[in-house]
Amino acid sequence: MIDRYKKQRVRMVDSQIRSRNIKDERVLKAMGKVPRHLFVDEGLVDQAYNDNPLPIGERQTISQPYIVALMTEALDLREKDKVLEIGTGSGYQSAILAELAASVFSIERVATLAGRARRLLDYLGYYNVAIRVGDGTYGWREEAPFDAIIITAGAPKIPKLLVEQLTVGGRLVLPVGSRHSQTLLKLTRMSEDINDIREEDLGGCRFVDLIGDYGWED
Ligand code: SAM
Repeated sequence: MIDRYKKQRVRMVDSQIRSRNIKDERVLKAMGKVPRHLFVDEGLVDQAYNDNPLPIGERQTISQPYIVALMTEALDLREKDKVLEIGTGSGYQSAILAELAASVFSIERVATLAGRARRLLDYLGYYNVAIRVGDGTYGWREEAPFDAIIITAGAPKIPKLLVEQLTVGGRLVLPVGSRHSQTLLKLTRMSEDINDIREEDLGGCRFVDLIGDYGWED
């Protein structure tokens, strides 16, 4: 059984991720290691390694493997880095981040999802992930600054409070756009001035809404 999922993961990495030009070996290794099938509902286990997002309850989703890899590569993580994630969801992206960085702080607005992710991440031994329930559009001020921030829900605009919580040189990767379609952006903070930002377009995408005071209305 375990071997079957290992094979599916290797195939997922080769056919969906490496083949689409994700090159960072650390990211490919993490995607080949984290047991994605444990992060989906029991009834969807056989689809866990497919090339698409899947529902995780509460009208939310676990992102497509390629999108997880693309966003993670763009974060350009080093082993000593401190990362903030907005939108814990299933906890899958948090586990990938935990493989690549020193510490991960993740915020989820839906308490049941946060609880389920916490239990699974503990079971898998990802003790370098802290999870908080709340509106992630405010960031996590007590733990700032972060070397990297990832928002895994679609935002109407770039949340300024999160840019403020980046180190100089820090990276923010997020989908920005309408409720129906967004552009995946990578922002790099270039200096103390929070308006001094380098912006890169990583392509089109479609995420569930970022809901909060600096996101969409519920
Ligand atoms: N990263 C997740 C994973 O690996 O399963 C997928 C996240 S799902 C696409 C987006 C998540 O963002 C949902 O769980 C949703 O409840 C959460 N969310 C939306 N707005 C939020 C906010 N303001 N603060 C925290 N979480 C938020």
